[in-house]
Amino acid sequence: MSSENDNRYWSASIRGIQPYVPGEQPRISGLIKLNTNENPFPPSPLVLEAIRRATNDDLRLYPDPDSRELKEAFAELHGIPADHVFVGNGSDEVLAHAFLGLLKHPQPILFPDITYSFYPVYCRLYGIEFRTVPLDDAFRARISDYLCPNGGIVLPNPNAPTGRDLGLDDIRRLLEANRDSVVVIDEAYVDFGAASAIPLVAEFPNLLVVQTLSKSRSLAGLRVGVAVGQPSLIRALACVKDSFNSYPLDRLAVAGAVAALRDHAYFADTCRQVIENREWLDGQLQQLGFEVLPSHANFVFVRHAGRDAKQLMQALRDRKILVRHFGSAGIEQFLRISIGTREHCEALVAALRDVLGTAAT
Ligand code: PMP
Repeated sequence: MSSENDNRYWSASIRGIQPYVPGEQPRISGLIKLNTNENPFPPSPLVLEAIRRATNDDLRLYPDPDSRELKEAFAELHGIPADHVFVGNGSDEVLAHAFLGLLKHPQPILFPDITYSFYPVYCRLYGIEFRTVPLDDAFRARISDYLCPNGGIVLPNPNAPTGRDLGLDDIRRLLEANRDSVVVIDEAYVDFGAASAIPLVAEFPNLLVVQTLSKSRSLAGLRVGVAVGQPSLIRALACVKDSFNSYPLDRLAVAGAVAALRDHAYFADTCRQVIENREWLDGQLQQLGFEVLPSHANFVFVRHAGRDAKQLMQALRDRKILVRHFGSAGIEQFLRISIGTREHCEALVAALRDVLGTAAT
């Protein structure tokens, strides 16, 4: 008889692992989904057209194992050589390869105590020592706390789930002080108003910048992530990839991703709308008594002075709006709310008015 608790066939290395828990993808229709930082706008029409065009008999053939066309499109966009680019099946996979290939050393790696909760999962999976570094009272990463011996550093910019960003001066300071270890800057949300560290790659052989097409390119469903670094770092990622899966990106993903990277106008317009909606929502939430951390991402991280976050999340759920509550130490009273269309944001504000008993002014 097998039971849920029967793990006798499992490798010892995964027995103690607590896997990452992604935000809920409910099957209920008619929900307003503001819980997983997806883009509320569809992908560029050119993406859908390119995927349709690539849906042909060639699907019987393996894709290019190097996804060269995609690397070249990304390189062209940023004015960098194509051998500075690595691509993978979502930035989660790219990050996983970076943890295994670049961050496993005798010294512990460092990342913030409040950050993307996948980082400690990779560490436990791969047996990487890590130490978390507290954010300051305003939920910012303090560079001076990272100026100590380490096996590597991982910082998202903007940070998740806080939305707070670091300037390039800070990142430069971090790189200058850590020339013997790799600094990974996870830029999943950078296109919503933060500064990318890609221009610093030419100067710093220890910098790896990771980006995704899931957020600002509206392609979470296609699974495309990118890393930028000098060739020695890129070769380490390729070494892990080629020891794991030769073809992480399929033909449709490459076709769609290339089209997305080339549609500059659509990208600029949808990012602008998300930013405008974020600013509007920020003002509305403050009027409703929320503290809203300054965000440069496609979400806001908020707490209400008088209402419990978990209860608020449930009350919104009852009104068919999903937001994310983490409940981990230090952020129990926060909700992370993804930025939707203006209609989504208005529906959220109306629902909150209802819950909080506040009349519209
Ligand atoms: N980094 C951060 C900080 C994220 O929030 C996410 C999204 N969950 C990712 C990386 C991974 O995104 P994806 O795998 O969709 O590229």
